[in-house]
Amino acid sequence: MNESSEKNIFQRIIDREIPADIVYETDQVLAFRDIQPQAPVHLLVIPKTPLPSLADVDASHQELLGRLLVAAAELARREGLQQGYRVVINCGRQGGQEVPHLHLHLLGGRDLSWPPG
Ligand code: AMP
Repeated sequence: MNESSEKNIFQRIIDREIPADIVYETDQVLAFRDIQPQAPVHLLVIPKTPLPSLADVDASHQELLGRLLVAAAELARREGLQQGYRVVINCGRQGGQEVPHLHLHLLGGRDLSWPPG
């Protein structure tokens, strides 16, 4: 297996090996539109550094996690989500995480029900 085929899909987006609709980028954070949107606005906000899931986070990631949330709030404003939105982190198999690279889902543009299924 070569290095490229071992990478998860989000790492390949970070490395510009596959295309994505990128809407935000800083030195540490990338955001792009979800390929299967579950709401009129569905963005994924990710760290550029490899970090599989929230379960792998420790105190050394505190600033990075803040940057991810600040990016989500900024993007919500840019996307016109003044009426509200939801930020979700799926963690692990039972949490519904499919891609092993930490990501925040930013969902908005419709009424969102609670609790999730
Ligand atoms: P999760 O289930 O929390 O791991 O969410 C993974 C998300 O990544 C899903 O909402 C997918 O639709 C989305 N996704 C998978 N591949 C891509 C891709 N190439 N570009 C954008 N979004 C993707």
